[in-house]
Amino acid sequence: MIADINRYLPFAEALRCALDGERPALSWLVPLLTCAEADAPALYRAAEAVRAAHVGDDVHLRGLIEISNYCRRDCAYCGVRRGHEGVVRYRLSPDEIVETAQHIQALGYRTVVMQSGEDMWFTAERMAEVIRRIKATTDLAVTLSLGERDAETYRQWREAGADRYLLRIETTDPALFAALHPDDDLEERKACLYTLRELGFQLGSGVMVGLPGQTPEILAGDVIWLHELGAEMLGVGPFIPHPATPLGDAAGGTVEATLRLVAVLRLVFPYAHLPATTAMGSLHPQGRERALQAGANVLMPNITPPRVRGHYALYPGKVFPGDDAVAARAQIIAHIDAIGRTVSDGHGHVRRVACQEEMKDAHTE
Ligand code: SF4
Repeated sequence: MIADINRYLPFAEALRCALDGERPALSWLVPLLTCAEADAPALYRAAEAVRAAHVGDDVHLRGLIEISNYCRRDCAYCGVRRGHEGVVRYRLSPDEIVETAQHIQALGYRTVVMQSGEDMWFTAERMAEVIRRIKATTDLAVTLSLGERDAETYRQWREAGADRYLLRIETTDPALFAALHPDDDLEERKACLYTLRELGFQLGSGVMVGLPGQTPEILAGDVIWLHELGAEMLGVGPFIPHPATPLGDAAGGTVEATLRLVAVLRLVFPYAHLPATTAMGSLHPQGRERALQAGANVLMPNITPPRVRGHYALYPGKVFPGDDAVAARAQIIAHIDAIGRTVSDGHGHVRRVACQEEMKDAHTE
C-alpha cells in the first residue's frame, strides 16, 4: 500500500479521534503509530489515562508454562520452526504440567498460561484431561496458547474448563502472512479465532512489529481487524530475528515502534488486557516497564521448569526470571511497586460486559 500523507490527520487531531472513541481508521491510526519522538510522551500519557480510568492500576500476573517446543509448522521468523534441526526438542508430561500449575498457584498466581508449538501429541482428549486435572486441583484461571486446531478440539478444551485462548494473527496482510507462513493460511487462522470467540473463550490475539515488508498502513489495518474481531487480550512484541531462520538477516522491530502500538491498542481497546511482553524485555532491559507505562497491564512470568526453559527459543536473547520462582516473583512485584502500580489479587478475567458497552458507546457517538 502506498502512503498518502494527505489522508492522515496531524498528530493532535489523530489523538483527539482516539480519545473520542472514534471507530478505528487509517486516517488517525497511522499518525499515532508513526508519531515523532517528541509526540510519543503525549501518546503514552493518553494511553495511561485511559488504562487507569478503565482497568485501573492493577497489573495481572499470569504464570506461563511452555509445555512443548515441538511444532508442525515452519513459520519463517520462528526459532522452533519444524525445519530448525538445531533445536533440542522437549515435551512436558501431563503429570509435570499439572504439578507445575499447582506450583504456580502455590506461588500466588491466579492464572496459568499453557503455551506450545503446534504439537499434535497433545490431542484434544489428552489436553482436555490436563485442563480438567488443573481445574479440579487448583483455583487457577486457565489460558491456552496452543495454536490452530479444529473446532471440535477447541470445544473439548472449553468444556474441560479452559477460560481463555491466545492465538496471534501476527499480520492481517494476505501477502505478508503468506510470505511468513509457508504452510499456513490467513483465512484458516481467522476462522480459528472466530470459532474460539463463538465458543466463549476470552479471546486474545496480536501481531508482531517490524516484520520485513510491514508498513504502518498494514499495522493500522491489523488494529482495525482486531477491533472488528472483538479481541479482549492483545499481545504485541517486536520482531526479533533468529539467526537460524530465513529472516535471520532482517532488521527487526524496535521497542519504540512497539510502544506506540501498545499505546494505540489501549486507546482503541480501553478494557482489554495488554501484556508487557517478554520480547519487549528481551530487546530492552526496561522494555516491559516501559510498556506498563504506555497502556499495558499484564505480565506473564515464565514458570517453565528450568531444565527445559532455554529450549523454547522463538527468538534469540529471550530473558527469563531466575530459577528461584519465589525470589523472581518478589522481584517482579518490586518492579511493579517501583512504577506506582499494584498487583492484582484476582483472576483478572476480561470485563466483557463493560467492554461491549464501551464499544457500543464508541460506535454511536
Ligand atoms: S510461531 Fe508458533 S506455529 Fe509458527 S513455527 Fe513457531 S511455534 Fe510453530
